[in-house]
Amino acid sequence: MSKTAKIGKLKIGAKYPIRIKGMLKTPIAKTKQLIGEAKSLEAEGVEAIRLAVLNEEGARAATILRKHVSVPLVADIHFQYKTALMAIDSGFEGIRLNPSNIYKKNEVISVVKSAKRNKISIRVGVNSGGFKKNFSSRRMMAKQMVKSAVDYIKILEKQNFFDTMVSFKGADVLTTLEANRMFAKKSDYPLHLGVTATGPFVDAVVKSSIGIGTLLSEGIGNVIRVSLSAPSVLEVQVAKAICQALDLRRFGPEIISCPTCSRCEVDLIKIVDEFKRKIEKDKIDKYCKVALMGCVVNGPGEAYQADIGAAFGKKKAAIFKKDKIIGWSNEKDIIGDLLKEVRKK
Ligand code: SF4
Repeated sequence: MSKTAKIGKLKIGAKYPIRIKGMLKTPIAKTKQLIGEAKSLEAEGVEAIRLAVLNEEGARAATILRKHVSVPLVADIHFQYKTALMAIDSGFEGIRLNPSNIYKKNEVISVVKSAKRNKISIRVGVNSGGFKKNFSSRRMMAKQMVKSAVDYIKILEKQNFFDTMVSFKGADVLTTLEANRMFAKKSDYPLHLGVTATGPFVDAVVKSSIGIGTLLSEGIGNVIRVSLSAPSVLEVQVAKAICQALDLRRFGPEIISCPTCSRCEVDLIKIVDEFKRKIEKDKIDKYCKVALMGCVVNGPGEAYQADIGAAFGKKKAAIFKKDKIIGWSNEKDIIGDLLKEVRKK
């Protein structure tokens, strides 16, 4: 079991659930939109919010955001240790330092001393992009990443600082897996997982799910952040879906639906989308398995593990529990009828 670290009131590691972190994407100067984005992330259920802090204006952003959201805030700092000091003074509850660009011992020590005084945590965030050299193999790159984190942690520990998390983001999914596994064998500091520079949406969701999901399924990782070239709320939704698929956390009903085939006589894809939207809009967070299946011939049998489901015929939809039909509905009313059953659970 890993050690515990914290970001403000949020405990991470040990027995605590896998935490979900989000990141603000709005430029800091656009204050109104920045606040709006932070509020949307909080409403989506994010448990910590990270902000890339480039200068004094960014460092002061915590003061503004704090008036509008209550989730802990983390400043992502590169190059300027003084910016880290300002971010700590401004009220961020965690900071991320990159060993590749804040590495002078005296500078690191002054940040650590301030973090200790202010009771805030540090994430040692190693990115393979920080190494300006070519490695002969993924393993060699992963080894270098782990060494970089271990050496950095020693500086923190020498200052009696242990409120630390670590992350490794490699150039690809396999390097990320390798570095995290290597570190988890040597150390019990909590790990923040993510796959970076993931690409177009479908590729990015696949890479994140494989990278983060594989490690979580091996018991590695304590906090996750999905990176997509897409709105930040979507990143949180994917992170929650990864945790729910691995049965590590439950955020709401799990929808099972069939791929449809020539037996299907309704627009099932549209019905699934509408059902999902309705669940989100109504903020239904009770867990149960709901099946939406394209035909009555195979639907109930294929989704026998569902708590409640609908299987469609031409005009009617059979409502079933396990593999027994318990009633009938139609395409127009089925979403409302299923939600009634879900609410009874
Ligand atoms: S449940 Fe019916 S419609 Fe859906 S894939 Fe299976 S056979 Fe086809």
